[in-house]
Amino acid sequence: MRLIFIGPPGAGKGTQSQRLLEYLGIPHLSTGDMLRQAVREQTDAGLMAAPYMDAGQLVPDDIILKLMDERLSRSDCHQGALFDGFPRTLAQARGLDQMLQRAGLPLDIVLELNVDDAEVIRRLAGRGRHDDKPAVLAERLKAYWKTTRPLLDYYRKKGLLRVIDGLGTTDQVFERIRAVLDAAGHRRQEELKAE
Ligand code: AMP
Repeated sequence: MRLIFIGPPGAGKGTQSQRLLEYLGIPHLSTGDMLRQAVREQTDAGLMAAPYMDAGQLVPDDIILKLMDERLSRSDCHQGALFDGFPRTLAQARGLDQMLQRAGLPLDIVLELNVDDAEVIRRLAGRGRHDDKPAVLAERLKAYWKTTRPLLDYYRKKGLLRVIDGLGTTDQVFERIRAVLDAAGHRRQEELKAE
């Protein structure tokens, strides 16, 4: 199964991703994690990305797509993947479509974890990552609403989008996600049977 997780910073994507990974047993492809590693290792991509990350701005698409292309070509991704924090722009979404098409792999589902800004700010106040400082966080939220949120329409039109209410306990939110995934799976099986 290949699925995309979309939501504002602080929506709980990281926590829910961990739960989902245990449930589905597929690799976790977080461009945020990849970038932080690249910055630590001071690779070319890391050196180029760092100023954008520090400012809470999106890293240019070509850097992101190159990182993802390399990661997706590893054999563990053939069984599936959970895309977390990627794609974040329309160009990245189109780039991902092309990569998957080339590999002959379908995209199964896009989950939007829906949490409003006030709740996001309340949650992130306690997290303490250096790009969670108020000014940087405001930039990250702006990037989400302006550039990433329009992606939801892109996937809605493809019939892939499912919206998950992100308010509640970790368990409650995970149960909602699992119900949606199970329903999607059942539907696919029924479609197969009907053929
Ligand atoms: P995250 O851990 O997903 O919140 O990402 C942290 C930071 O890394 C973001 O604020 C961006 O600067 C950068 N970043 C991560 N993923 C992407 C992406 N797909 N496109 C552009 N920038 C990204």
